[in-house]
Amino acid sequence: MSRYDGVDLQLNVPHSARMYDYFLGGFTNFAADREAAGHVLASASWVRDAARANRAFMRRSTRILARTGIEQFLDIGTGIPTSPNLHEVAQGVRPRARVVYVDNDPIVLTHAQALLASTPEGRTAYVEADVTDPDGLLAEPALRETIDFDRPVALSLNALLHFVPDAAGAYELVERLKSALAPGSALVMTHVTPDFAPEEVGRIVGVYEAAGTALQARTRAQVARFFAGWSLLDPGVVPLPHWRPDPDEPPVPAADAAGYAAVAVRS
Ligand code: SAH
Repeated sequence: MSRYDGVDLQLNVPHSARMYDYFLGGFTNFAADREAAGHVLASASWVRDAARANRAFMRRSTRILARTGIEQFLDIGTGIPTSPNLHEVAQGVRPRARVVYVDNDPIVLTHAQALLASTPEGRTAYVEADVTDPDGLLAEPALRETIDFDRPVALSLNALLHFVPDAAGAYELVERLKSALAPGSALVMTHVTPDFAPEEVGRIVGVYEAAGTALQARTRAQVARFFAGWSLLDPGVVPLPHWRPDPDEPPVPAADAAGYAAVAVRS
């Protein structure tokens, strides 16, 4: 399958969503993805643990926000479906939760069916859009039909913004998305950083760039800037395994996740 519904999936070129799927032990990846992913793992064997820790953060943060009363979730850069998906976690707490998934990768679209099984009381939708065009994304009919922007929304940008360099408008697009959200909304993020394992992360950046994908690792201060004007929930911008760790999950050292996580709310 190299074409799907008229879309060229470019299976001969490594792609970030499929490489990530490979790190997580999924099956939606192809030879070129596995080769590039193999180069990443040769530089940093902990990347698999980092990917798992990233999913674990998604589960913790979603559960916590659902428990605080948030019923609407907008997950941009959602990735190839992985169990459990965000809507399963959110609807596990709040069966009425509405979840919109967004990604710009056609292969994620081909698997979106797995993202659309909702509780009867809730609702899920999938939108193919690019986060670098926030106005276009926010205007998508399926998004507007599913999410009421007068009520709080949890916006998650997990493991996404390092694929958007400053020059491509990363800060501007986040501000645009934040400005569309009502008071009580939350911004949830994980992001690759060079702060703990600079040489290995430098090599990983090189592998992605060789594959044609820009990757900008950001320092703690640069990640914190995305949350400007909103109130960070405890414990702030921290190594992602350290954000309200679940005692049942095996501990992951900060250097083995090479990423920050944070959640902030609009007051
Ligand atoms: N959020 C998931 C998956 C992260 S992988 C998780 O944390 O587990 C990053 C995802 O971002 C991939 O699926 C990739 O296709 C998507 N992505 C990368 N650039 C994007 C862009 N400009 N617009 C929308 N999605 C993008």
